[in-house]
Amino acid sequence: MSSFELSREHEEFRRSVREFAEAEIAPHVEEWDRNHHFPVDVVHQMGKLGLFGLTAPEEYGGADGDFTSLCVAIEEIGRVDQSMGITLEAGVGLGINPILTFGTEEQKQTWLPDLVAGERLAGFGLTEPGAGSDAGATRTRAELVGGEWVVNGSKQFITNSGSDITSCVTVTARTGRTADGKPEISTIIVPNGTPGFTVEPAYNKLGWHASDTHPLTFVDCRVPEGNLLGERGRGFAQFLATLDDGRVAIAALAVGCIQACLDLSVQYSLERTTFGGPIGRKQGLAFQIADLRVMAETSRLLTYKAAAIKDAGGSVKEFKEAAAIAKLHATEAAVTATRIATQVFGGYGFMEEYPVARFYRDAKVLEIGEGTSEVQRMLIARGLGLPVE
Ligand SMILES: Cc1cc2nc3c(=O)[nH]c(=O)nc-3n(C[C@H](O)[C@H](O)[C@H](O)COP(=O)(O)OP(=O)(O)OC[C@H]3O[C@@H](n4cnc5c(N)ncnc54)[C@H](O)[C@@H]3O)c2cc1C
Repeated sequence: MSSFELSREHEEFRRSVREFAEAEIAPHVEEWDRNHHFPVDVVHQMGKLGLFGLTAPEEYGGADGDFTSLCVAIEEIGRVDQSMGITLEAGVGLGINPILTFGTEEQKQTWLPDLVAGERLAGFGLTEPGAGSDAGATRTRAELVGGEWVVNGSKQFITNSGSDITSCVTVTARTGRTADGKPEISTIIVPNGTPGFTVEPAYNKLGWHASDTHPLTFVDCRVPEGNLLGERGRGFAQFLATLDDGRVAIAALAVGCIQACLDLSVQYSLERTTFGGPIGRKQGLAFQIADLRVMAETSRLLTYKAAAIKDAGGSVKEFKEAAAIAKLHATEAAVTATRIATQVFGGYGFMEEYPVARFYRDAKVLEIGEGTSEVQRMLIARGLGLPVE
């Protein structure tokens, strides 16, 4: 029986992350967003607070804590700034976790201490121009030549892949064919700065302006044979497992977004007056804010239920389903919540100096990254035994 009630320790931890986010992030968010500035010093500060190492073992500098704590941290950072929230989410879920879960001891010793300390970041390169939802269609190739992997291909939309402190990117690549003729996909660690590995200029994104996202190209990029992550040919299974955790973490980021919309809307609806009184006395508006409260509650419950299943060691099937449900519900609710919040703010909600405008732009990608809403529905439907393609 798994319980997803947050403990007193979790709530105290929530308070400390909230205080940090309000003191160190909130005053600068608008400027970072406007200038598309990736604040490396704040990543280091989050590292010093232990946020990147919450779930990592102590031997690599982590706190050996639970997944629920990580979700709490992502929610609270995301409540103030979705860009720093995704930086933490991807730093742990896509940077640290694949190496921690599938790496050799040598790989872990090489990469993890700096990543866990928040001194460096790592990315996970799965998506390609022709392979997103259909990630198994990867075209990037890696060929073993004279004791080295020679990587050729490109990756697209890769978070934390090109910052000044990025140490490596883990990429999926075709390494041959399986006995039944299907592409064999493996995962390889490519250190940033390796000749032949180019981090292309950052994207001009609709939102998440202060997060680091790049296309990557590999032209005869050579890395040692020992950079293979985990077993050869297990790349597909590895990224599926990586994404399950990531989906819950993205749901936590969505919860932070919804909570921000709720807090901002309640405050504004008490302050703003029309027709001789606060707008919050009008049912048309108050009822929409009531809906925000329901969205925050349902999304939070689904997110922490999924996290609790993981922490309690629940079955893979149970966790996969809970992760897909949490991700689907929380991210779609977040998009709706930002639409409601900007409406509550009227014309001011359309102005960049009001945080709701930023949340409105930031929310959309939550329905896309780490598996689109359609992919989540596909997984849930398959779990029901439906023969959905
Ligand atoms: C800001 C940002 C950061 C990202 N960070 C990373 C990262 O760090 N690492 C990484 O590897 N990727 C990353 N991604 C990529 C992201 O995971 C993909 O964009 C996403 O999985 C969708 O893939 P796609 O863009 O190729 O869309 P497509 O797969 O081409 O999908 C297009 C549309 O078709 C729908 N669709 C596709 N297949 C089906 C189906 N079978 N049934 C129903 N509908 C379907 C999709 O839901 C979508 O609506 C990031 C993306 C963004 C925007």
